[in-house]
Amino acid sequence: GVSEARIAVMAERVDRRFIAIGSGKGGVGKSTLTANLAVALKRMGHNVGVVDADIYGPSQPTLLASEKEKPEAVEQTLQPVRGVMGIPMLSMGHLIAPGKAIAWRGPMAAGALTQLVEADWGDADIILMDLPPGTGDVQLTMVQKHKPQGAIIVSTPQDLALIDAARAGQLFETAGVPVIGLVENMAGYACPHCGEVSDPFGQGGVEKIAERLELPFLGRIPLTMAIREASDKGTPPAADDGDAGAAFTAIAAQLSD
Ligand code: ADP
Repeated sequence: GVSEARIAVMAERVDRRFIAIGSGKGGVGKSTLTANLAVALKRMGHNVGVVDADIYGPSQPTLLASEKEKPEAVEQTLQPVRGVMGIPMLSMGHLIAPGKAIAWRGPMAAGALTQLVEADWGDADIILMDLPPGTGDVQLTMVQKHKPQGAIIVSTPQDLALIDAARAGQLFETAGVPVIGLVENMAGYACPHCGEVSDPFGQGGVEKIAERLELPFLGRIPLTMAIREASDKGTPPAADDGDAGAAFTAIAAQLSD
């Protein structure tokens, strides 16, 4: 069904929609989802852009194959670089030396992130924002200041991750950003040898918590070798019609209109 939050997002008829992708924890697949939604939306005809705001582990340059690019500034406005399928994107990873970690202080991080969001996005109609994991000051400032039109929360089905996902939901609601829905990642692993499906992180937990929070459930993405390998190579599986990308494409279809 179409959620009320989503109708509100659509009804705003803004020329450009910012959609934040958040998670309570790191390592649950937030960046992987962002990159694949981007390519899936691009294939659906959107002018999609990506802001990688994950200051602690910017992985979009790898996921969307733009590691060597350096954004230029024109009159103090950053010009996005191009990743896979020509997708315009900006990442903290483009602004710092490769492999170099920066211990960002809150105000510094907020300043740098603002430059990414307020870059020259041209005719992009949907911009996906890959947020840092968790619910700290940086995330709160980011959503309060830039008010994305909606947010998606990713979690694994594991109890601990779910508790943090619920917290992330609260962060968005506090900031007045409607949650478009929840996505379950790393659900179900099919053994490549015998085909038996097991659930390393449990099963169905995200759908249950979505029900409890009265938020839409957008879908589940299986844990597969193909997704992990494609991500490392900078070829998001949703960029072609193979099985590995199907779950991402189905979620993207719910955002496209
Ligand atoms: P986050 O952005 O939440 O920190 P990532 O998207 O970077 O998480 O994913 C963490 C790791 O898990 C990466 O190595 C990624 O390739 C892998 N991964 C994510 N989702 C899946 C999946 N569905 N199947 C297999 N590997 C996955």
